[in-house]
Amino acid sequence: MASSPSALALVPFVSVADMMRIVNAKGVRRVLAEMADAIEADFRRWESFDKTPRVASHSPGGVIELMPTSDGVRYGFKYVNGHPGNPRRGAQTVTAFGVLARVDTGYPVLLSEMTLLTALRTAATSAVAARHLAPKDARVMAMIGCGAQAEFQCLAMAECAGIARVQLWDIDPAAMDKVAHNLRDSGLEILRASSAEAAIAGAQILTTCTADKRQAVILSDNMVGQGVHLNAIGGDCPGKTELAPGILHRSSIFVEYPPQTRIEGEIQQLAPDHPVTELWRVIAGEMPGRRSASETTLFDSVGFATEDFSALTWLAAAAEETGFFQPLDMLADPDDPKDLFGMLRRAGGAVDSQLARP
Ligand code: NAD
Repeated sequence: MASSPSALALVPFVSVADMMRIVNAKGVRRVLAEMADAIEADFRRWESFDKTPRVASHSPGGVIELMPTSDGVRYGFKYVNGHPGNPRRGAQTVTAFGVLARVDTGYPVLLSEMTLLTALRTAATSAVAARHLAPKDARVMAMIGCGAQAEFQCLAMAECAGIARVQLWDIDPAAMDKVAHNLRDSGLEILRASSAEAAIAGAQILTTCTADKRQAVILSDNMVGQGVHLNAIGGDCPGKTELAPGILHRSSIFVEYPPQTRIEGEIQQLAPDHPVTELWRVIAGEMPGRRSASETTLFDSVGFATEDFSALTWLAAAAEETGFFQPLDMLADPDDPKDLFGMLRRAGGAVDSQLARP
């Protein structure tokens, strides 16, 4: 499509306020369902994407990461942080923003907040994995870690994986109260458990979504029975895991992109050649997902760039559909593409009077 330079230079920007309006206009359950379908469709065409482990900059309190990918038509990246100590300062553990761009011109077509979008896409990805790996009759999920991601995880599992009851556990009782309050009208039966053991009793899906920059043992080997599906979200950084190694040794492990997950996921605790299955192969029908009722399946989620790409692509359409975005003047658009310097005159011409050396 031919566009004038100035039209190309105005980039749709989805602010946090716009994102909230889009989610509220469409309904959070519908958003999660649509995003799960978009992520699943892109997993099916896995081989059309450029893939690289994300670029991480670690510090004692957290990590800042860049997550790029391209399908040859669009290019996307996300900037995301993970700072488990932030909530004590009144800030989020995870914040993010990202860009989608055209490959043919290199021009951005969307700039967006991605803190909410990450919570939505992480939950939608969990639901996609559960659709293929969880027991078919799964109705009860344990939600261990009731922070920023928790409600999204619960709703995505309800919408896409048949969950009707959620059993909450968090070391912070106020976090459990928050989830119970936020989901009071969701139709989900919510139970506040008194321990992690109590939360997982009778659950077919066990979601761990805690934040601590260390090798934690949120679930020990003797706590996890056969036949469950583990949705491990919080172990997503070197030195940051949630599951006892014994659980990993008796689970069938499914991952997004092995070169990244071996650095960041639960499987950093295993030998580098420990067998894992790429989730996209299950979705594409190349490999089996769950093979028996007694099999313990583990989705070792760390979050991969293609999921953000899927989410940004979904968002570009949703922003256009709802009109909730602002055109952002973020790219220079000189009348003559070679005359970038001359464009400075648009701001009032002071450039010429300041050219001579004082
Ligand atoms: P958050 O800080 O808002 O919430 C974490 C919760 O875990 C807190 O309520 C805390 O009290 C609780 N917690 C800590 N230790 C616990 C323990 N031992 N037992 C029970 N609860 C415990 O963080 P968030 O934004 O909800 O993110 C949760 C985790 O998910 C983080 O580690 C984050 O890095 C990770 N994450 C992963 C992905 C992915 O794609 N896999 C995406 C987003 C976030």
